[in-house]
Amino acid sequence: MKQHFIGGRWVDGDSGQTLAVIDPSTGEAFDTLSRGNARDVERAIAAACAALDGPWGRMTATERGRILQRMSALTLARAEELSKLEARDTGKPMSQARNDIQVAARYFEYYGTAADKLHGEVVPYLEDFQVVMLHEPYGVTGHILPWNYPAQMFGRSIAPALATGNAPVLKPSEDACLTPLAFCDIAAEAGLPEGVLNVVTGLGEEAGAALTAHPEVRLVTFTGSPEVGAIVQQATGKRVAKCVLELGGKSPQIVFEDADLERATTFILKAITQNAGQTCSAGSRLLVHKSIHDRFVQQVAARFEQSVAGTPEMDRDCGPLINAAQKARVEGFLREARETGVPLLAQGKVAAGVPPGGYYVPPTMFGPVPRGHRLACEEVFGPVLSVIPFEDEDDAVRLANATDYGLIAAIWTRDGARQIRVAKRMQCGQVYVNCYGAGGGVELPFGGVKRSGHGREKGFIALQEFCTIKTIVQYHGK
Ligand code: NAD
Repeated sequence: MKQHFIGGRWVDGDSGQTLAVIDPSTGEAFDTLSRGNARDVERAIAAACAALDGPWGRMTATERGRILQRMSALTLARAEELSKLEARDTGKPMSQARNDIQVAARYFEYYGTAADKLHGEVVPYLEDFQVVMLHEPYGVTGHILPWNYPAQMFGRSIAPALATGNAPVLKPSEDACLTPLAFCDIAAEAGLPEGVLNVVTGLGEEAGAALTAHPEVRLVTFTGSPEVGAIVQQATGKRVAKCVLELGGKSPQIVFEDADLERATTFILKAITQNAGQTCSAGSRLLVHKSIHDRFVQQVAARFEQSVAGTPEMDRDCGPLINAAQKARVEGFLREARETGVPLLAQGKVAAGVPPGGYYVPPTMFGPVPRGHRLACEEVFGPVLSVIPFEDEDDAVRLANATDYGLIAAIWTRDGARQIRVAKRMQCGQVYVNCYGAGGGVELPFGGVKRSGHGREKGFIALQEFCTIKTIVQYHGK
């Protein structure tokens, strides 16, 4: 049974109730976790407040950074064990789980080495005045994570919060929280003082809602769906606390007639099959210039047909979806596409021998998808690619920007002027040119516009999200 991690100890939940931990590759439960409630969250916040009043509140940035660097080393030392845990909890292929653990370690390293490089500023002002700007932590920070990349998300959200001296309280997803819990032991072993990091597991409407509503939590960072993101923004807005929202996407891959089509094909396939399409930055819309449409779509479809979903140990293109509800949701999109006459271009396979209870859906490609169709606008969060032809550059830009989302875009062309011209017109937070960087990219500022959220994580700039600025004005005349 997995307990909460509060005040540096593993503790039972207040209610004694539990939730099942299910292996998505078999559909079978293999453990339980505590179903946290508001009293558990209250305890976690009290522990975090106490930690801020203790040695953590006085620790130098360099020492905080060293703890994170030790967390990185310990993560790498246990990489195989953590990878297996991540794969079992999420169903992802082993090679991907291994990569995710490396990325989590890299977050600890990156923010560990960055902790003492976030300088304040001196502001030129009136004669006989000295003005300095200092970065200060918020104090207790709330972190709510989704299930798709639990290890990476832990690193991405918790490492910058610790680097800047906050005391995070984390509510991981009820569908995947084993690696975030394992990182608690690693943090303790790395020397993180008791109560600095607290994890309460449980449901969003219970533990999650209690965390976002608590007056001591001055910043909430949320990664998940736009629907829940809006609830979190309301909850923090009511008490005038800050929130950072990293929400979904419907990211376009724009392929012009002069693109390196072979290279593009490889990236396009990976960007939608990786993590079975359950990636916020999945390249789920393929926009293709009409002059190469038929030839290129045939090429991508041929590769799609060869893609296979399997168990983590089979290590194929993707694993199962996270749970039965997600499988039903994705299958609903597939059914609707067929019923509304959207042509099926290609479908991969589910490997022979996968356990019958697993939540497998083969990678699937539809097109041409009518521009107003749900498949052209809504996030599926599954391995489903929608192909849409475009007329010219202006049409491609219009189409790319024609969803409520704005997370990522990719542009495939050899024309240098067009690369930057189109990149500048994209309404999103990251643009890739002749490449696609879903996931990873620890150094690269990441986040959305429109319904994809606001605020930036990853990169050095994320440190600023976890700090407030204090300006000190000092008169030093005689
Ligand atoms: P979700 O919104 O259902 O849940 C996310 C988290 O919010 C979970 O921990 C859940 O328990 C919690 N939650 C649910 N209701 C809550 C409430 N009322 N108050 C507080 N917390 C609550 O999302 P999901 O299904 O876990 O993940 C899929 C979504 O996440 C997709 O839309 C995807 O695009 C998005 N996502 C975005 C990014 C990004 O960085 N932009 C990364 C990963 C996933």
